[in-house]
Amino acid sequence: QKITIAIDGFSSTGKSTVAKQIAKQLGYIYVDTGAMYRAVTYFAMQNKYIDKSHFDIEALVTSLHNIRISFKFNENLGFAEVYLNGINIEKEVRTLEVSSFVSQVATVPEVRYQLVKQQQKMGKDKGVVMDGRDIGTVVFPEAELKIFMTASAETRATRRFKELSERGDNVSYDEVLHNVKERDYIDSHRADSPLVKASDAIEIDNSNLSLQEQFDKILQLVNT
Ligand code: C5P
Repeated sequence: QKITIAIDGFSSTGKSTVAKQIAKQLGYIYVDTGAMYRAVTYFAMQNKYIDKSHFDIEALVTSLHNIRISFKFNENLGFAEVYLNGINIEKEVRTLEVSSFVSQVATVPEVRYQLVKQQQKMGKDKGVVMDGRDIGTVVFPEAELKIFMTASAETRATRRFKELSERGDNVSYDEVLHNVKERDYIDSHRADSPLVKASDAIEIDNSNLSLQEQFDKILQLVNT
């Protein structure tokens, strides 16, 4: 019998890597909700609603109906890539620039409302692994299995820095660490659905766990 698996936690805890593997193993759909907030942010940047010095929330909210986010499975990559109005923006949404604005965009209640509605639709048939910040608390409070991933900010920044550097992004470790800490702060202090561990979530600190160990642990929880 298929279930809903909610994986929440702080930025760069490696949620998506393990979530993808679990989904593949179980033949479930994987939904990266962070990519959806990133897509809205990318849209806001393109339309100049947000930059370093201003954020026109009203303009973004009034044009939310122009945003269509979808996912399409890429056979070569083995996961679904994110699309904005039919255009593949998987690469564009992973930049440090998008990361630096996304938590602000994610504080906007209208943005959350729209995305949560879409996420609930995507997961309505169970057999889904969804990762984000509010999956176990808001999107699927009834999820049969809830995981809350944590790791020290330094561990997370090291991982993210490696990823970005490998992609050829010219960023420093300090910038990445700053971004990770800033997003932690904004995500856990926003008024609308702040990042908190659901009372029935199982916490996994993966600072010292290999991907295989995390995978085994979650799979064991699925089977109990
Ligand atoms: O998971 P990822 O790091 O890609 O998410 C980017 C940002 O999107 C988070 O820092 C958070 O501000 C926001 N987010 C959210 N709720 C979710 C998923 C992501 O607020 N369910």
